[in-house]
Amino acid sequence: MKGVIGLYTIENVARKSLYTLYGVQHRGQESSGIVAAGDRSIRVWNGSGLVSRVFDEHYNSFIHPEDYVVIGFASGENTSKGLPPCLIETNKYRIAFVLDGFIPSSLGESFEDKFSIELTKHLNEGAIEAFSKAMCSLKNAYFSLVAIVNDREAEKSFLLVARDQRGVRPLHFAVGLDQLVVASESSTVDVLEGMGEVFTDRRDVTPGTILTMGDDGIHEISVLTPNPATCVFEWVYFARPDSIIDGQSVHQVRKRLGHTLVETHKLQKVYGTDKGPNNDLSVIPVPDSGRSVTSGVAEALGQPADEGIIKNAYLGRTYIIDDPQFRKIASDLKHNVIRSTVKGKYVAICDDSIVRGTVSESVAKSLRKAGATHVDFLVSYAPIFYPCFSDPLDKPLAAKPFKGKDVEEIGRLVSVGLPSIDNVLYNTPENIVKAVGLPGKVCMYCITGIDPFVEEK
Ligand code: 5GP
Ligand code: MG
Repeated sequence: MKGVIGLYTIENVARKSLYTLYGVQHRGQESSGIVAAGDRSIRVWNGSGLVSRVFDEHYNSFIHPEDYVVIGFASGENTSKGLPPCLIETNKYRIAFVLDGFIPSSLGESFEDKFSIELTKHLNEGAIEAFSKAMCSLKNAYFSLVAIVNDREAEKSFLLVARDQRGVRPLHFAVGLDQLVVASESSTVDVLEGMGEVFTDRRDVTPGTILTMGDDGIHEISVLTPNPATCVFEWVYFARPDSIIDGQSVHQVRKRLGHTLVETHKLQKVYGTDKGPNNDLSVIPVPDSGRSVTSGVAEALGQPADEGIIKNAYLGRTYIIDDPQFRKIASDLKHNVIRSTVKGKYVAICDDSIVRGTVSESVAKSLRKAGATHVDFLVSYAPIFYPCFSDPLDKPLAAKPFKGKDVEEIGRLVSVGLPSIDNVLYNTPENIVKAVGLPGKVCMYCITGIDPFVEEK
């Protein structure tokens, strides 16, 4: 997955693009980069690692005072094939693009290669036409795309952004005086506003459209009819809680998922909080992915939430480690318990999801060692049965053997394989639809097996 950004702006280009890039860092920590353009050149600065590592003190001289278009990315991939962006050069254009997206595999060809081929076929008809045609011919792909188009004859550059017809990945834009800022998530633009930028129009890019800004202003071009299927896991885990996607606050959705967990499993009764807070109960999050759902659980129970696990933030992502033994060691290293919160307590610990069960078992084990008498693991998502079609790894999904049973039974059976957990409490797919509040407009393939791409295959 990637975070992408795009800016068309005159003032403080270097500083503003870096601030914007920092705002999408949570979407990928393996590599990052920026492409900058003025009238006559496109230049690339990219590297492995966090934004703070890639963009050292030399970056300021990379951006020229006359530059006015920038695109950038923070990516969870650091591939041997090289880092983004994709560059295309013809007699008429220099083009650079980055996309956060996926295309069903086509004989080892990367999505970037495939998109470049489709784009190049039509560039003689003009750049916008070529992007439109590439979008139409790759209907079973999804992408949030940012591009710089430099017209070599006109000696002008413009910013072009596009979101696939299903809008699987988020993409937000903000219009200011002589400027356009685009970022994967709205929280990135909030930060710029907080730092004094003034925007008059802020919206998500409509699925199926292309948005451009050049010296002739902003144009919104409807290419394909929107047919939304936003990835529901954006609200559950991927996006920052301070983002709003398709009008739905990520934090509030996560809180509602906490409410539905309490209702579905009748937890007020189970935890004895129906008559007021229970002193023997400790409601805590797995940091940071379990924070918002914990607020919702605590609110619905009428029980204050507490902190019971502290995360070592410097260890980075442990989820992507392939080797199960190393992944477990990384998770053990990453989480430590506040003994005073859990010793002698009945602990309800909340997180966003269980995939293989590595994190959940690791934190539950340390809670037990610290003296918790009972550990319930509350999961804001539902049991995952199908690996996401965009995930190349074949992960052993903890809930998969129990497909077809109800969530209560699945939770009980999954907890048998996770010895430190007494009970796993999942949400239902119906609860997730309700909490997100966009029925029929989200992709939940990993929990339902209903593939929104199937029509086009
Ligand atoms: P598990 O340890 O069960 O395999 O994975 C679940 C944990 O990984 C949860 O703590 C969740 O926050 C995190 N997680 C779930 N899905 C993803 C993902 O796609 N990417 C990353 N980096 N972490 C994830
Ligand atoms: Mg987590």
